[in-house]
Amino acid sequence: MRRLLVVNALIFAVLAAAAALAYYGYSATTEQTSRDRELALMQDLAEEKVLNIESLIAKADTELLRAVNLDEMVALKNLPANTGAAIVSVYVLDDQQQLVPDGFVSTRAPKEGVAFRDWFLARVLPLLPLAQAKVGVRGHLYLNLDGRPYLFTYMRRASKDNRKFYVVIEDDLVHLVFRLFPQFFEVSSKRLYQVVDEHNQLRYGEPFGELAEGLVVTRPFIDTVDGWVLRVAQRDLGDQVAFARKRLVNSFLIGGAVVVILGGLAVLGFAIRRERRLSELKSEFISNVSHELKTPLSIISMFGEMLAEGRTKSPEQAHEYAEIIWRESVRLSRLIDNVLDFAKIERGMDVYEFSDDTAVADVVERAIELSGRRLANADMTLTCEIEPELPPVRLDANAFTLAVLNLIDNAIKYAADGKKIALTLRREADRIVLDVRDWGPGIAVEEHERIFERFYRAQSVRLKPIRGSGIGLALVRHIVRAHHGDVTVTSAPDQGSTFRIWLPISDKS
Ligand code: ADP
Repeated sequence: MRRLLVVNALIFAVLAAAAALAYYGYSATTEQTSRDRELALMQDLAEEKVLNIESLIAKADTELLRAVNLDEMVALKNLPANTGAAIVSVYVLDDQQQLVPDGFVSTRAPKEGVAFRDWFLARVLPLLPLAQAKVGVRGHLYLNLDGRPYLFTYMRRASKDNRKFYVVIEDDLVHLVFRLFPQFFEVSSKRLYQVVDEHNQLRYGEPFGELAEGLVVTRPFIDTVDGWVLRVAQRDLGDQVAFARKRLVNSFLIGGAVVVILGGLAVLGFAIRRERRLSELKSEFISNVSHELKTPLSIISMFGEMLAEGRTKSPEQAHEYAEIIWRESVRLSRLIDNVLDFAKIERGMDVYEFSDDTAVADVVERAIELSGRRLANADMTLTCEIEPELPPVRLDANAFTLAVLNLIDNAIKYAADGKKIALTLRREADRIVLDVRDWGPGIAVEEHERIFERFYRAQSVRLKPIRGSGIGLALVRHIVRAHHGDVTVTSAPDQGSTFRIWLPISDKS
């Protein structure tokens, strides 16, 4: 009954764990899919933002570069204000890359502007790939000089009289970062934006903090500030601690579920094997019991018939037949007692009737007395040593007699060759100890536990014509454990066996 409950609980646990795993698998896949979708969305967004920013700058720059008119150089002064481009300075150079007269305008203060112009001519001009520039096509160069970023845009142009010249503009990065970026990257959105330069230095936006790497998408700028990168992250996934904790809990739960499933399956496999073995033993038991019932019955009916028909030579023979019938019927009733008690115990019924202050010595002596005839028939002697004045114990006398009888019967059955049985009953500390020793074939060590299992019979006896059902010792163990004691065996092949029962002495004694 209890085993069935455990098996049911196990099956339930395995199913629950499997369901939990399936749920985690499903939710992880859904989460992953939605994350993938979100990442793809973020990637598109980053693409679009960078493209829009760069095309806005490129368009304004191209317009300005094309607006420069070499024939009316004076108009250059008005350029920065008239076009949409955010610029700091404009340079117009001739074919030889020399600044043309009036070919410079700057939004900086005059003195500073001039100083910057000279710096430009000395440091930046040699770096500009003007020689390769194609007429009317915008080119750009991003520089990080002395720790400061600069963006220059240039174009080769031809004047009306077909003279070649170059226009170079210095884009306003302050405007880009402080005016343009904020227009594109709204602060309140559910996403975080960040622009870092080629040295991974934050140029715009706020640090992402502990964001998970996989949840960030990046898109580099390629047509303006080369090397700068736009990074986009999801704002509500920013709580790395909660995310890590969730992942930890999930891995524990998944690990636990896997352990439950594997453990459950292992235990179920074990239980199934055990049940199979038990059912094999049970069918063996049925044939053993039937055989045990049949033998005395056929003896009884044979000798009964002889008596009934008066086929006896003398009154002594008639007496002998009657005695055989009596002996076999006692054996029969012992077997039936065993089977019935065992069946009651198997069904979990409360079969014991305890009474306090029972003299255990009396109970043991009675069992010896009941075995007298069987001992004589087997030509065996039983020596008995009982310590005087043993304290009384709480006992079910009938059940305990049955237990002692089973041990003596076994010794008669299996150890008749040893010719003797020694029984001792004594007190050891707070226990009463009963030893039943024989000088028979003994029991292999690996079977010491198993012989107490129901239906189990040792390998060595199965092949011999010794009758038995395999429930005797299981019954003994059940009885003594019900008395809060236990039964053990010490034995080795060919060394005889000692079965020991101990019972606790009640507190009062
Ligand atoms: P049964 O005697 O009906 O087979 P038991 O439960 O009484 O069943 O005993 C289980 C097994 O233990 C026996 O089949 C036998 O192999 C072994 N056994 C029990 N007592 C002895 C003993 N005194 N000497 C050797 N083997 C024993």
